[in-house]
Amino acid sequence: MDFTLSEEQLMIQQAAKDFAQNELLPGVIERDETQKFPSELCRKMGELGFLGMMVNEQYGGSGLDTLSYVLAMEELSKVDASASVMVSVNNSLVCWGLENFGTEAQKQKYLTRLASGEIIGAFCLSEPEAGSDATSQKTTAIDKGDHYLLNGTKNWITNGGSAEVYLVIAQTHVEKGHKGINALIVEKDMKGFEIGPKENKLGIRGSDTHSLLFNDVKVPKENRIGEDGFGFKFAMKTLAGGRIGIAAQALGIAAGAYELALKYSKERKAFGTEISNHQAIAFKLADMHTKIQAARNLVYQAAFDKDTGKDYTLSGAMAKLYASEVAMETAIEAVQIHGGNGFVKEYHVERFMRDAKITQIYEGTSEIQKIVISRSILKD
Ligand SMILES: Cc1cc2nc3c(=O)[nH]c(=O)nc-3n(C[C@H](O)[C@H](O)[C@H](O)COP(=O)(O)OP(=O)(O)OC[C@H]3O[C@@H](n4cnc5c(N)ncnc54)[C@H](O)[C@@H]3O)c2cc1C
Repeated sequence: MDFTLSEEQLMIQQAAKDFAQNELLPGVIERDETQKFPSELCRKMGELGFLGMMVNEQYGGSGLDTLSYVLAMEELSKVDASASVMVSVNNSLVCWGLENFGTEAQKQKYLTRLASGEIIGAFCLSEPEAGSDATSQKTTAIDKGDHYLLNGTKNWITNGGSAEVYLVIAQTHVEKGHKGINALIVEKDMKGFEIGPKENKLGIRGSDTHSLLFNDVKVPKENRIGEDGFGFKFAMKTLAGGRIGIAAQALGIAAGAYELALKYSKERKAFGTEISNHQAIAFKLADMHTKIQAARNLVYQAAFDKDTGKDYTLSGAMAKLYASEVAMETAIEAVQIHGGNGFVKEYHVERFMRDAKITQIYEGTSEIQKIVISRSILKD
């Protein structure tokens, strides 16, 4: 497989790298400590086209391929995974879902503003009792003729407090199970919609994670995405692509931690020589480098499958499963290579270690990825 990057892809990669180094890096430790959502940086990323990367230019997007998107995600995540998850949700889940399944009116009204970064969106599937088992939706959207009456609670929603537009999955026909689920576009100021408290998290602390409460929210019928009952399929199709973004995020976390560890190992001396001269450290770096390259190949393969119209369910799940494992392992080893300094915030690697964990949990845990992978390889 030839993954030689085009001039345009190299340019996007460089632009993301520059933005990460110049804009994200300076305040990243403070945002992590204070759990501050970077709204100003978010606006700048919108201006640079990072929030609607794959959306057609006619709807205000950048019209790029998935590979360009994962290149940008990797570079942003090398510095700040809290900023990159916001980018990932807006691109992969919200914009992609609307562009592929929304009506023309929905695209004109919402997608154009989301893709240009004027506003950001959130994707709301998980509930207190429906995470991995997303079919157990308790949130209801009862058909009232010209509108749905939405009631329920969503949990751990990324961009929860800062979004303007929310794609909400809810059960309309309980008796039909997952075939009775709908996806609705909810606006922040709709009556009865309340944003719950911000979660106090282990990692990606600069990202804005909230529970959401819906109490008799009237959502107009024209805000339903797709046919009646399409909501569960919508969520699964959207998440299949979302995994590629999270895999790229995990890759970036791994690569960012590795780069810091490599640099440190050539500067820090112990027993009269740089620690990189000790084989125990050199071999850790060798393992990290090898696994990161393997993860990168899987992520690129998944992006390539998506860009060439192939089924990317299996390749996306493999990329997310493996890249998130590599992120976790690499970040732990990066802390070890830094010794005591690895435990201190200024050296960044402890943050990578905390941030890496979420990539094994959201948009399908590692166990769920293994279910997707095993089903796919066993089906024939
Ligand atoms: C920071 C953060 C941001 C998030 N952002 C969003 C968002 O924007 N939108 C959204 O909708 N959700 C979001 N989530 C929710 C996330 O997707 C869920 O937490 C995740 O899917 C797991 O669901 P759960 O927490 O209910 O765990 P559970 O489903 O309760 O799983 C608990 C454990 O059991 C395992 N398990 C469950 N079922 C099986 C099975 N069949 N076989 C083997 N093992 C199994 C799981 O792998 C896990 O280890 C976010 C979560 C966090 C923490």
